Amino acid sequence: MAIIIFGQTKCSLCKLPLEEKQEVSSFPHFLKEGHQLWAYSDSGMHTACIETWEHKDEFLLLYKTVRRDHLFTESAEMKEMIRLHGIPDWIKEDVKEFGMPNWLQEFWDSNEKPDLL
Ligand SMILES: [Zn+2]
Repeated sequence: MAIIIFGQTKCSLCKLPLEEKQEVSSFPHFLKEGHQLWAYSDSGMHTACIETWEHKDEFLLLYKTVRRDHLFTESAEMKEMIRLHGIPDWIKEDVKEFGMPNWLQEFWDSNEKPDLL
């Protein structure tokens, strides 16, 4: 996720600082450089600014698609990380939204935190 320092980091849409009392959304780097919305993919925004943004639907759909593809792509590194540390919260969130990928099922069945052999 983009690092946000309240009072300093600026909203990538309105360019005003993000303040602690405001509702803020942040996004990780999920678009390739050169994409027309790339500049927004590693940034924070006022939630209110997103609501009125002309590219809101496209941007949120892209973010959702990337997260879904990532979840359903089996990766040896991710499996090893889960073996060592359990299933991270962001994966649990994505499973709630997108469903269970086959590669993850074995870890889920073993009570979310597999025993080390
Ligand atoms: Zn803003």
